[in-house]
Amino acid sequence: MRGMTVRYQALRGTRDILPDEIAAWRFLENTTHEVFSRYGFRELRTPIFEATELFARSVGAATDIVRKEMYTFTAGDESVTLRPENTAPVVRAFVEHAFHRTIAAGFPERLYYLGPMFRYERPQKGRQRQFHQIGAELLGAPEPLADAETIEMAWSLLSALSIEDRELRLNTVGDTACRPRYRETLTRWLAPRLPALCEDCRRRAVENPLRVFDCKVEADRKLLEEAPDMAGSLCAPCAEHFDAVRAMLDGFKIAYVVDPRLVRGLDYYQRTVFEIVATGLGAQNALLGGGRYDGLVDELGGPAIPGFGFAAGMERLVMVMGKTAGVAVSSDVLLVGLGEIGFLASIGLARTLRARGLRVAMPLTERPLGAQMKRAERLGARFALFVGETELARGRFGLKNLTSGEQIEVDEAGIEAVVLAERNDHGR
Ligand SMILES: [Zn+2]
Ligand SMILES: [Zn+2]
Repeated sequence: MRGMTVRYQALRGTRDILPDEIAAWRFLENTTHEVFSRYGFRELRTPIFEATELFARSVGAATDIVRKEMYTFTAGDESVTLRPENTAPVVRAFVEHAFHRTIAAGFPERLYYLGPMFRYERPQKGRQRQFHQIGAELLGAPEPLADAETIEMAWSLLSALSIEDRELRLNTVGDTACRPRYRETLTRWLAPRLPALCEDCRRRAVENPLRVFDCKVEADRKLLEEAPDMAGSLCAPCAEHFDAVRAMLDGFKIAYVVDPRLVRGLDYYQRTVFEIVATGLGAQNALLGGGRYDGLVDELGGPAIPGFGFAAGMERLVMVMGKTAGVAVSSDVLLVGLGEIGFLASIGLARTLRARGLRVAMPLTERPLGAQMKRAERLGARFALFVGETELARGRFGLKNLTSGEQIEVDEAGIEAVVLAERNDHGR
C-alpha cells in the first residue's frame, strides 16, 4: 500500500555480527585453524544444505532435532534440509570421496569445519536459529588414544582462547554389545516412575530411554539421580576402552569429572562421550561436546569405520572469551587532505599506501580539518597524515600518532616504515 513503511528486521533467532564484533570472531577462527592444524586436522567445507534423509538417518528420526527443529523444504522434487549439525555431512563427504581408501591402521583421517548451522529452536530458550559451530571429526581410529588426543585438542583450543574456567566431563555410553542391556535395566527402573516424569521423558522412555538424562526439568533431574548407571552394564571391551582413555587424560594432566548422567543427545554416540563446560556460566554452560560414533559411517553407506568428534558453539565461545579476544581491526592511517590540492593529492597517495599493504582511510570529498580529526578518532585510526600544498612541495608530511599525540615529519617511505613498525608492536 502507498504511504506504508515496512521496517525489516533480522528474523527471530538470527542476528547480524557487526564490524565491532568481527575481531573476536576472527580471533576465534584463526586460533581454531592454528590449533587444529597442529594436530593434523584438515579443513573441509560441505554445503549448507543436504538431503533431509541424511539427517533423519544419522541424527535419529526420534530426536527433537529431526522431529521439530529442522529447516526442511522442497526444492524441485527433493526434500532438502539446512544442516542442523555437521557430523553427518562430514561423514557423507568422507564416504562420497572415498577418503577411507587413503587411511591406514594407525593413520586416520582428521577433518574439521567452521560455519553456520540451523535449528528452529523455541524462542524462549534464547538460542539462535542460525548459530555457528566449530567441529572436528577423526575417522578411522578405534584406539582410545583417538579419544584422548582429540579431547586434548579441544582442551588446547580453549587454552589458546584463554578460557580457563572450565571443566571436562566424561562418560561412556557403551556400545551395541552392552547398551541394549543397560537400556533394559533403565526401562525397567523407569516404568513405575513414568507418571511422575514430564511428557517429554515419558515419550523418551519409549523411543530412547537414555535420553531422559537430557531432561532439563528440575524435578525430573532429581528423580533421575537415583537411576542405575551405565557403568554397571558395561561389557569388558567398553570398560577397558574407558579406563584407557582416562589413564591417558591423567597422563596429559587434564583433569576431568566422570558424569554418569552425561549421555549426549544424538543416537550415534558409542563409548566415550564428553563435554567441556564453562564454570560460572549458569545452566546453559556447555562450551563443546562430542564423543565416539563407531556405527555412523556404515549407517551412512560407507565401510565400518569408527569415528570420534566434537562440536563447539562459536557464539558462546566468543561470549566467554570476552576481552582476551583481541582488539577491533582499525585503520592504520587517516589521510587528512588540507584544501583542494591536498585532498586531490591524497587520492593518489592513498592508492600508493594501500598497494603497499597499509590500511588507509580518507574522506571521499574535501572536508574541514576538524571534521576529519573527529572521524579519525571514530575510526580508531592509529595515525593521521597531513597532506597539504606545503607538504607536497617539500615532499615531507606531518604524521601524528593519535594515541600518544606525538607528531613527526616523514617522507613518503617514512610513512610506511613508521606505521608498519607500530603495527608490529601491537601484533595486528
Ligand atoms: Zn523430563
Ligand atoms: Zn560394550
